[in-house]
Amino acid sequence: MLIHAIIARSRVNGPGARAVVYFQGCNLGCPGCWNPSTHPFAGPNRSTESVAAEVLLNRELDGVTFSGGEPMQQASELLALVHCLKRTCPDFSVGLYSGYTERELESGAYSTRDSIDQQTRSEVWADLRSQIDFAVLGRFVTARPSRLPLRTSANQTLRLFGARYSESDFDSQECEVQIAPEGLVQITGFPLAGSPA
Ligand code: SF4
Repeated sequence: MLIHAIIARSRVNGPGARAVVYFQGCNLGCPGCWNPSTHPFAGPNRSTESVAAEVLLNRELDGVTFSGGEPMQQASELLALVHCLKRTCPDFSVGLYSGYTERELESGAYSTRDSIDQQTRSEVWADLRSQIDFAVLGRFVTARPSRLPLRTSANQTLRLFGARYSESDFDSQECEVQIAPEGLVQITGFPLAGSPA
């Protein structure tokens, strides 16, 4: 799978302490997207196992949030990764940002970089939906800014799947800046009224 970056631990991308996995590749083209460097489908192809191992390096996590880029454009790989993580940590919390609406996902009306057909895409989403705890769904629309938790556009929806979370578990938008010992700076969360990618 194509991965843009992994943040080992964040507290601003869903409830608790979570790794954040940014997928590489998105062709949705939302005007004003905050992270165009995630758009090309390029870079090294990583194995499911290596990404899962990197996420699980930190033993103190509540879960993981998938962002991008567009995770659903690598839906089969994403599903394999979720199953891999859950085999090791059955109670691991899983969150997802996607530019697609729930209706598009349910009907398989989304594009993937592999050649699975629409019926298979619909089935992959149904499997994923049964594994994840929350998802922020819908395009980033710069003309409709929002300060709601995790949603940068008012058109986006926060969907809760299962009983783990309620709306009150989601904090207001915050920004996190992490500076690694070697000087690498990573910014995540919501530094301004921009896209979540
Ligand atoms: S906001 Fe998200 S879905 Fe839209 S173009 Fe940027 S990465 Fe893609």
